[in-house]
Amino acid sequence: MLTSINHIGIAVKDLEASKERYSTLFGIDSFHEETVETQKVRIASFSLNGVLIELTAATSEDSPIAQFINKRGEGIHHIAFTSDAISSDLNNAREHGIKLINESPVPGAHEMQIAFLHPSSTGGVLMEFCQPQQEQK
Ligand code: ZN
Repeated sequence: MLTSINHIGIAVKDLEASKERYSTLFGIDSFHEETVETQKVRIASFSLNGVLIELTAATSEDSPIAQFINKRGEGIHHIAFTSDAISSDLNNAREHGIKLINESPVPGAHEMQIAFLHPSSTGGVLMEFCQPQQEQK
């Protein structure tokens, strides 16, 4: 089941400059930064009452984030939902005709298992399901 909004991913060109800008805006510092090899990105996370804002920058030219920025510029990239059983949530989506980018979960940031749904099936919104490792079912 999907239980909450986990994070909003924002595609940025320059992670350091964007961190500064969002720090000023939110009045807090980012609390976490990591490179996610499966997505070829480096992220910086801000927590607003438990909802994460994830600034996401490409680490290589063939990163999905680089392709997104080349096509559409910086901006909101995806919305991620916390799942308490990601495999069954993916199956449920598939059974309802939703096209998946990740047929099964892959390792994401914050030690979560993640999977993306294809925006052509979701009204143009790139959605991500994510499940903290300890809650795998
Ligand atoms: Zn994400």
